[in-house]
Amino acid sequence: MRPDILNPLFAALTDLKGVGPQLAKPLTRLGLERVVDVLFHLPTGLVQRYPVDRLDAAQVGQQIIVTLTAQDYRPGRSPRAPFGVEAFDGAGDHVRLVYFGRTAGLAKKLFPLGEPRQVSGRLDAYGDMRQIVHPDHVGEPGDAAIATSEAVYPLTEGLTNARLGQLVEIALERRPELAEWIDPPLLALRQWPDWREALARAHSSPHDAAAHDRLAYDEIFASQVALMLIREGLRKRKGRGIAGDGRLTGALRLPFGLTGAQERVGREIAGDMAQDVPMLRMLQGDVGSGKTLVALRAMLAAVEAGTQAALLAPTEILARQHFATLQAMLAGLPVTVAILTGRDKGRVRESTLMGLADGSIDILVGTHAIFQEAVNYRDLALVVVDEQHRFGVAQRLMLTAKGQRPPHLLVMTATPIPRTLQLANHGEMDVSRIDEMPPGRTPVDTRVVSVDRLDEVIGGLERHLASGAQAYWVCPLVAESEISELAAAEERAALLRLRLGDDRVGLVHGRMKGPDKDEVMARFQAGHIGVLVATTVIEVGVDVPAASLMIVEHAENFGLAQLHQLRGRVGRGAAKSVCLLLRSQTLSETARERLALMRETNDGFVIAEKDLELRGGGELLGLKQSGDADYRVASAEQLVRLLPVAHDDARLFVERDGGMDGARGEAVRLCLYLFERDAAVPLLRSG
Ligand code: ADP
Ligand code: MG
Repeated sequence: MRPDILNPLFAALTDLKGVGPQLAKPLTRLGLERVVDVLFHLPTGLVQRYPVDRLDAAQVGQQIIVTLTAQDYRPGRSPRAPFGVEAFDGAGDHVRLVYFGRTAGLAKKLFPLGEPRQVSGRLDAYGDMRQIVHPDHVGEPGDAAIATSEAVYPLTEGLTNARLGQLVEIALERRPELAEWIDPPLLALRQWPDWREALARAHSSPHDAAAHDRLAYDEIFASQVALMLIREGLRKRKGRGIAGDGRLTGALRLPFGLTGAQERVGREIAGDMAQDVPMLRMLQGDVGSGKTLVALRAMLAAVEAGTQAALLAPTEILARQHFATLQAMLAGLPVTVAILTGRDKGRVRESTLMGLADGSIDILVGTHAIFQEAVNYRDLALVVVDEQHRFGVAQRLMLTAKGQRPPHLLVMTATPIPRTLQLANHGEMDVSRIDEMPPGRTPVDTRVVSVDRLDEVIGGLERHLASGAQAYWVCPLVAESEISELAAAEERAALLRLRLGDDRVGLVHGRMKGPDKDEVMARFQAGHIGVLVATTVIEVGVDVPAASLMIVEHAENFGLAQLHQLRGRVGRGAAKSVCLLLRSQTLSETARERLALMRETNDGFVIAEKDLELRGGGELLGLKQSGDADYRVASAEQLVRLLPVAHDDARLFVERDGGMDGARGEAVRLCLYLFERDAAVPLLRSG
């Protein structure tokens, strides 16, 4: 149970005064649901405001504070047009205050005619006229002065910086004094503030490196302690060594030989499975490197040993695809494969459950829902998880909780994870890498094209579709706003429909419900749709061999690892595949370098390492994109820099005899709860 002292931080934001459903919506969109989320939602910069006596003293583009008096209102011509307030400074100079989106009522309330108000905002020019769009602060002259500098937060539509700032203040007031979890001499050496002060400083001065480092360290430390405890806990449980006799793997009819890499990782896996310590292994390999076959051979070994295996996919569609693949590969072999997802109901489901319990089913394919319910196996010895990055540490733990003895766990991922991040996010796992592609693949031909040439690109797409092939069109990622991201995708789909015809263009995006998304994906898979326009949600691993063209708009906005993943969606059939990276007209030097790298190499590991290097400081986005959203405070740069330190500290703490006892143990426990590594808390040794 979470210590009481932390409870105020884990209260829902909607429990706070003045936070209603209206405000909850944008907050949720930013992932802010509880007080603690706001606490760790750190500002990215600082706005400086210049107090001026009169508008003449300010320059266009400047953030100013000035006293203004409203003299007239100027309603828009239509209800959707902006509402204007005609205001004047002390010298009689005019500025129009502009409010968009049916906010006339608000504007009138803020600016009663004839009464002076303190106003801050950015002074803009509109033709010959001065204007301020949505002043960020409006107060009566007697009120506390508007701050001349203010932290700027990542925002979303429907949430202002001022409003978020108020929530941050409440959150900061709620932070309790907590026992220190960093060894005092180390803390002094690093010259970091305690966490309470660190939070206050990180919010008030976004560029305070010591404060921000301290918080990032805390998060990484919590995660490292958790991973070590989980690993220790799992390895302590006695599993069971199993070895196949080769009668099934030997009978597999393959039209090709295994690659050297497949052979090697196969041996690593078999070696683990033969031990009575449960396997915890991650299998990394680029899309198309042949992970499925490796997994299948491991599962067959389990079946040969008289036990069962389960293959877990992140989505319904992928589960069905795996099921079909396995059935085809196993045709004629005495192996029974079944599928179970949230969609299977009634009698079919009943009989699958029975087959699992009595052992007549050897291999089960399904979505993770099956692990949360009463699914009982006769003797489950191996769990394979595909595309694991959708599963968190806690879920991974749960997977192995099934069965009397913990089963061996093999996790497959196509996300090439740089070595540093590997340790950071999956430190509890051993790693096997498939670093060689099956022979005869033509690498995807990658080209970088300026968005000026959109017309030509669409023309090329038209010819591509006319030849009977299919394509993906991925729309720009807009960090600040999911809404504009969606709007962009919708707009693009509309344009393509205009050019290519309504029924040839499909659209999937993150706001769609699962079944709706699945339906569009299924139609694309069946070839009914020619081009699939998508925000970044193209289902991992979905196989559409006829799709041999990938177009990515604003490619410079993506993490390289993610571009590589996207590129992996094509090049799965016999046809030569092309990936067009559309870039903006103007690009930074780094952006240019990053895109050039995509053209030069098809090696996911090279790309992942280089990406981390080029991405440099302060950017968390890429981590989120590649699915490694395990961190919300630490940036990629901090992760790389602070991980070795946090790793050593965690090791020392976990390994030191009785380390969990006493004050330090208590403090670390708080830290684990604070960063929601709860799953590891029961594993803390005591006494
Ligand atoms: P991954 O899951 O790693 O993306 P898959 O397991 O789906 O890749 O394999 C991609 C394709 O490569 C499949 O069609 C598979 O049959 C084929 N394949 C796997 N191993 C080999 C091999 N050694 N030689 C040739 N083709 C292979
Ligand atoms: Mg796969």
